[in-house]
Amino acid sequence: ARPRLASVITRIDLRGRRLSARDLAATLPRPELDVATAAERVAPIVEDVRHRGAAALRDLAERFDGVRPEHLRVPAKALADALDGLDAGVRAAVEESIRRARLVHAAQVPSDFAVDLAPGAQVRQRWLPVRRVGLYVPGGLAVYPSSVVMNVVPAQEAGVGSLVVTSPPQAANGGLPHPTILAACALLGVDEVYAVGGAQAVAMLAYGAAGETEADGAVLCEPVDVVTGPGNQYVTAAKRLVRGVVGIDSEAGPTEIAILADAGADPRHVAADLISQAEHGPTSASVLITDSLALVDAVERALPAMVAATKHAERVATALAGPQSAIVVVDDLEQGLDVCNAYGAEHLEIQTADAAAVADRVTSAGAIFVGPYSPVSLGDYMAGSNHVLPTGGCAHFSSGLGVHSFVRPVQVIEYDKAALGVLAERIVTLADDEDLPAHGEAVEVRFA
Ligand code: NAD
Repeated sequence: ARPRLASVITRIDLRGRRLSARDLAATLPRPELDVATAAERVAPIVEDVRHRGAAALRDLAERFDGVRPEHLRVPAKALADALDGLDAGVRAAVEESIRRARLVHAAQVPSDFAVDLAPGAQVRQRWLPVRRVGLYVPGGLAVYPSSVVMNVVPAQEAGVGSLVVTSPPQAANGGLPHPTILAACALLGVDEVYAVGGAQAVAMLAYGAAGETEADGAVLCEPVDVVTGPGNQYVTAAKRLVRGVVGIDSEAGPTEIAILADAGADPRHVAADLISQAEHGPTSASVLITDSLALVDAVERALPAMVAATKHAERVATALAGPQSAIVVVDDLEQGLDVCNAYGAEHLEIQTADAAAVADRVTSAGAIFVGPYSPVSLGDYMAGSNHVLPTGGCAHFSSGLGVHSFVRPVQVIEYDKAALGVLAERIVTLADDEDLPAHGEAVEVRFA
């Protein structure tokens, strides 16, 4: 069947309309399946893994990945073999991706500090890495060795001691994750890797899993403290369900690109970038925001042939035609920025005059790509920035994956006798005011 052509991408005309923030948010394109609905669907999967461990993981792999993995934990030899078999060109590209990511993520490591409040009175703040993390690497419609780099490098730079990678089993690789994913793990020195995908992988990481077989009481995977990584709406929903049992990064679900462009943007660049993110899958969102009807016409004219010529035309066309994608026509760049900030796209490209100045006025986005030579594909693989980014409007309150996802600050309080003595009366006053006199007594007893 001929793919549905991208000319059916919806147009939303906001010209002459001044909407409240609430109405604007309701007008913007959003996906059909929201995370809350996906969470209802995956809750039984999470419970199944929690109670039946490895046996559930095998059954779910058969159901969702079309293969019953022989090894849920990838054998060390399979990791070494994958690295040996890695194409030299791919290896060089992965190494460059790692090198650039390390430079940026090393710079993210936050500094400890100490504040002397008075003689003998000090509060220090130390950043502590979490103990053990589980890193999800997608592998459904596409496989993402690049996501190995994006998860592992910040965790390593944060100083996390115990790292687990998990990715769906591939029928084409005998029930193991994709060979390039295994090779990337080996290259980064990660030796605990699982052939488990989807919501079941998130459940395994959060609760741990027992037994390689039902009869076997052995531990397959110990629980982690933080689960990170991108995935489809089911993976994202599972992360939302286990949040609180473990920490998560942002909800990094089906990808979104928004492009803020003016009449000077090259329509072929714009169309290519809309298509490139739509390629992730039929639920990807591609949104163009512009004040130029000439650009809208040129992009709409360019899309059908470009979509038809691309390898994954079917899913690209579906994504562009979906309710999550649109061309939003605005009066001017001011209104365009309002739309960008209300949308909070995972990826936001600025293809306008004075792009850097326009980018400075963005208040909500997962990552901002400035000017004609910073396409999202650069950030997906090589820029040095992280490609695991918040979707579904989560950019309003959360951020992309980074060293900060794997560390937390702990405050250390150290006062000596004299420094406490200076404050004793005030502490007693507040304790009495809160009707918690034992709090005050715990100070007074030290001076009795
Ligand atoms: P995936 O690994 O995320 O998902 C595959 C798994 O989904 C399967 O193993 C299966 O267990 C599960 N699944 C499939 N259908 C299901 C159903 N009906 N019910 C329950 N579970 C089901 O791989 P994918 O599907 O290719 O998706 C990758 C996603 O990751 C894409 O949506 C892409 O846009 C996204 N992504 C996001 C970011 C980001 O930072 N936001 C980065 C890279 C990729």
